[in-house]
Amino acid sequence: MPFHNIRGQQHALEYLRRSLQNQRIAHAFLFTGPEGVGKRTTALALAQALNCQETENQDACGLCNTCRRIEKGVHPDVHEIVPDGQSIKIEQIRDSIHREAMLKPLEGKNKIYLLDPADALTLEAANSLLKLLEEPPAKVVLILITTQPFALLTTIRSRCQEIRFQAVARQVLAQWLEARLSCTQAQAVTLAMLSGGRPAEALRLADEEQKALRAQVLQIAQKTKELEWEVCAQQVGELRAELPEILMFLLTWYRDLLVLVQGGEKALIINQDYWEALQQAAVRETAEGLQEKYRSVLQAVEQLKRNINVQLLLENLFSRLANPLQAI
Ligand SMILES: [Zn+2]
Repeated sequence: MPFHNIRGQQHALEYLRRSLQNQRIAHAFLFTGPEGVGKRTTALALAQALNCQETENQDACGLCNTCRRIEKGVHPDVHEIVPDGQSIKIEQIRDSIHREAMLKPLEGKNKIYLLDPADALTLEAANSLLKLLEEPPAKVVLILITTQPFALLTTIRSRCQEIRFQAVARQVLAQWLEARLSCTQAQAVTLAMLSGGRPAEALRLADEEQKALRAQVLQIAQKTKELEWEVCAQQVGELRAELPEILMFLLTWYRDLLVLVQGGEKALIINQDYWEALQQAAVRETAEGLQEKYRSVLQAVEQLKRNINVQLLLENLFSRLANPLQAI
C-alpha cells in the first residue's frame, strides 16, 4: 500500500516524503507507536517508494511488478526479520543482514530490512546490529519497528531516525473504514472508537466472528434485568471467546449508558450501531446505578489479571450488575 493510500500519520508520511524528495534517506529508521496504527504498513510503503519502477511525487505507484511483490512479501531485496521463537537472534542478524547487506541489491534500487518487533532483539543480536549501524553499507535501509522504544539499547536508538506514529483521529479512521468495509457510518464510527484509533485493530473487530461476539455480549447486557444473574454469568461463560474482549464490550455498554443518562451527545457514544437499544435501556437506569455497574466491570478486568477463577468472577460480576446498589 503506497503512502497515498495510508490514512492518518500525516506527520510521519510528510517527513518520509520530504526525505525522499531531498534524497536524504536515513540508513536506519525507528518506527514507534501503539500496536495497529500503521507502522509496518508505512515501512512497506517506504520500501515500495524506494524501489518502485514508476514513482511519482515521492511515492510508489502500488501497481508495478516491484510494488506488488513487496506487498506480497516476495521481493528479493525487501526482507522482514521477525522473532525466531521468542526473540530475534544473532544468527538472524548475521545471516540475513551482515552477509547480504554488503552485496548490491538483486534487482531493486535499495535493500530494505524490517525488524519487527525490534524490542525482540537479544542483546547479542542488538550488538551485532549496532556494528552495522556504525558503518552502514550503501543502498541499505533498516527499519526497526516497536511499541516499546525504551526496551531498545540507547546506542541503537540514537543511531536511528525515530518516527513516532499515533492513533488515527476518529473521523479520519471512520471515513476510511466506511469506504473500505462498505459499512454504515454508525458501524464505522463504532469500530473507530472501539479500536482506539488503530486501523488494524478496527479491521480485526470488523470480522464476522467479532461482530457476532459483540452482539451476543450486548444482548446479554440488555437482559440483565429480565434474566437471573446466574443465567447471564453462565451464558457469558459459554461464549467461545477471550474474557478480556467480552469485558471490554460490557464496559463500553455501561459507559455509553452513563453518557446517555448524563445527557451526553450521540457523538460521544461508542456503540452507535446500537443507538436505539441504548436509548431504550437508558430509560430504566440511573447514573448512580450505572456508575456502580461500570466500576464492577472495571474491577472484573483487574481481577482477571490476577488469575481468579473465571466462573466465580462472572458470577460475582453479574450478581453485582443485577443489584448494583446493594452493599457487597
Ligand atoms: Zn510501483
